[in-house]
Amino acid sequence: MSAGNREFELIEWFRRTSAAHPRVPVGIGDDTAVITTSPTSDLLFAADMLMEGAHFTIPPATAEQIGWKALAVNLSDIAAMAGTPVAAVVSVALPRKLGGEFARRLHGGLHELAARFDVAIAGGDTNLWDGPLVVSVAVLGDAPKSGAVRRRGALPGDWILATGHFGGSLAERHLRFTPRVVEARQLSELATLHAMVDVSDGFAADLHHILDESAVAAVVFADGVPIHGDAVRDATACDALERALGDGEDFELLFTVSPEDGQRLMRSQPLAIPLAHVGIIEEGRGCRLQRADGTLEPLERRGWEHH
Ligand code: ADP
Ligand code: MG
Repeated sequence: MSAGNREFELIEWFRRTSAAHPRVPVGIGDDTAVITTSPTSDLLFAADMLMEGAHFTIPPATAEQIGWKALAVNLSDIAAMAGTPVAAVVSVALPRKLGGEFARRLHGGLHELAARFDVAIAGGDTNLWDGPLVVSVAVLGDAPKSGAVRRRGALPGDWILATGHFGGSLAERHLRFTPRVVEARQLSELATLHAMVDVSDGFAADLHHILDESAVAAVVFADGVPIHGDAVRDATACDALERALGDGEDFELLFTVSPEDGQRLMRSQPLAIPLAHVGIIEEGRGCRLQRADGTLEPLERRGWEHH
């Protein structure tokens, strides 16, 4: 069968055709790969690329913000496995017209975030050209002692919890977000995290990744989804929920835990940011949105669209 031209079809093809390797217990299909280099510890390894015109435009994005975001999206993937980022390499395809000062400022933004999380910028590659700006970062991390938290592992009956707020990120927030590295580590010490993902594609799309990998279904509570103020501006209540479920680039965490752990976390609210109980895992397949009046409707990958 042909692989198709869409991104997810290509990734599915890469996944199907990549040979398993004994030192890679988790390969294509999760937020990071897990690499076993010693009998006692696992490394996390991932890469993410930002392209001018697709992930940012200049302006409004500044050089510093692009550098920050290029590393932040990678640290967010390490957070999604409950890991600790260690080092990154940075590859830049730099338009000649932007010049060296732009590249130095880009590195300024990147180093500011690296310092905050004690991540070493250990190398990379710089090419000048006449195309658009592309920044690709690869990151290395340590898996938690209890093992990396995967997209696979959600169980029927689990509570689905979320950090922070969703929607409206593309107005500005996506350029200066803080990856939830500290929060993910705290959560993994306080509870048994069954499955976790960071929300880059969108609340609904990334929840579907957990459901697909875990082979389970979910119900999302419409009035339990924490909507960001950025999604409410100039929006009806329906629009705001739609934005929260579909916009993406929130870089918050969605994870599942036993009901006991869920209750405990919701009561104690142990993080500096709020935790919300946004749904439950069920047997079966698919995802549904439950209204305040109890009615259920399908919640597709791209989010929920009201009519
Ligand atoms: P995320 O949004 O968490 O960064 P992506 O949707 O970018 O995840 O990627 C999904 C999975 O596919 C990841 O495991 C990633 O490593 C893998 N992947 C993406 N592109 C490629 C590629 N060109 N070759 C091999 N694996 C890839
Ligand atoms: Mg991710």
